[in-house]
Amino acid sequence: MPIATVNPANGETLKTFEALGSAEIEHRLATADTTFREYRTTAFGERARLLNRAADLLDEDQQDIARTMTTEMGKPIKAARAEAAKCAKAMRWYAANAEGLLADEHPPADDVRDAGASRAYVHYRPLGPVLAVMPWNFPLWQVVRFAAPALMAGNVGLLKHASNVPQTAMYLEGLFRRAGFPPGCFQTLLVGAGAVESILRDRRVVAATLTGSEPAGRSVASIAGDEVKHTVLELGGSDPFLVLPSADIPQAARTAVTARVQNNGQSCIAAKRFIVHTDVYDEFAERFTAGMNDLTVGDPQQETTDVGPLSSEQGRADLEELVDDAVHQGATALCGGSRPTGLGAELERGWFYTPTVLSGITPAMRIHREETFGPVATLYRVEDLDEAVNLANDSPFGLSSNVWTRDADESRRCVRDLQAGGVFFNGMTASHPALPFGGVKRSGYGRELAGHGIREFCNATTVWYG
Ligand code: NDP
Repeated sequence: MPIATVNPANGETLKTFEALGSAEIEHRLATADTTFREYRTTAFGERARLLNRAADLLDEDQQDIARTMTTEMGKPIKAARAEAAKCAKAMRWYAANAEGLLADEHPPADDVRDAGASRAYVHYRPLGPVLAVMPWNFPLWQVVRFAAPALMAGNVGLLKHASNVPQTAMYLEGLFRRAGFPPGCFQTLLVGAGAVESILRDRRVVAATLTGSEPAGRSVASIAGDEVKHTVLELGGSDPFLVLPSADIPQAARTAVTARVQNNGQSCIAAKRFIVHTDVYDEFAERFTAGMNDLTVGDPQQETTDVGPLSSEQGRADLEELVDDAVHQGATALCGGSRPTGLGAELERGWFYTPTVLSGITPAMRIHREETFGPVATLYRVEDLDEAVNLANDSPFGLSSNVWTRDADESRRCVRDLQAGGVFFNGMTASHPALPFGGVKRSGYGRELAGHGIREFCNATTVWYG
């Protein structure tokens, strides 16, 4: 994949970039290594000052970086601004909370005595340069949710960003530099996926985090395993959205539309499978389909646009294949199911897809098990909660889940039984710096955000005095 900015709204290549050569990669790895030796000894207060400064700069840059993201990967401009604001908030949150999250942990005095110590505690130390392999779908947020805790913990970061968001990737390096972080604290490596193996095998890189597809995750995890290096993987999702009879159905249907089409449908935590109790199925299906039909598809730089293009021609082709396979095997498109028309000559060269709702899904269809990375929803009718939970769990993925109910017993049952890294009631899944984020099954392992996220790349050191 060339490293290039290609506008997905019209297919135009705007700028191409040369990948770094081996001498430049070596220079950056050496800089990361040297910087880490000093940076690891800095005080939390100093790191927080720099990170707060980065947040202020990001706020100042919000409009410009939002336009860059929208140009590179097609998200609606208002969502791009919101993403930049969310990143600044996460930086401030980690600046304020990291020291407390990484405070020494003191076991009870009886246990300390029992361990034969006069004093014993756990002390968190940074690990070193961490490689972050990141995707294009939230090109700022995916990086910041790694970088903010990593930098506060005293680690340094090396970013291998997706090849279609090079300008956003370079902006991030510049942002941390302008905030005053030493140059080796956060560096962007403009390289293709093929360069990841040798970087990850380099002795100076101590760990890796990857957000992206399952094949990419499997590859990075196996190389890291071979090198005995820690990894965090955040891979795909096919989150269920259960609607049960006690729910507020109009509200559930409105939220379902947003949950499915956020980021043009290209979000790992988007709700993708809508599993609805038969008693409320008809009302939900009608309201949900009407909401999907009402969305404005068009130029993502326009404030009024709800759904922009998919990020790549391949992404749209993959989505079309899933929909076509389902329809050929008997699924019904309640709306959409094709490319939009009437967008005008320029946008019709872009990679748009009409918001789609499919019913009549069977396990034989690829869409039943594969992730739909675009504005396509599958709708299932179930007889009771048991069937709903079984269907929700009948997926290789386990990132998050959504449940609409006002029944306390049903809620307890879902918290106990849904195979996912999150259960969100009467709302949609969203990440927040104070709450851990990650999945089970093929959605990956490890956690980002909150205390769990910052400790992933720390050495929990036992300190024992006789
Ligand atoms: P990829 O997983 O291919 O890309 C994500 C990142 O991984 C990019 O930086 C990419 O680099 C890199 N990468 C790709 N292959 C390897 C590899 N073998 N070793 C190391 N790094 C690698 O995602 P795609 O963009 O191709 O999207 C495909 C599908 O992945 C989507 O349809 C969706 O299902 C899923 N996905 C999930 C995301 C999530 O948020 N969980 C985000 C993006 C995609 P490069 O760009 O240079 O190829």
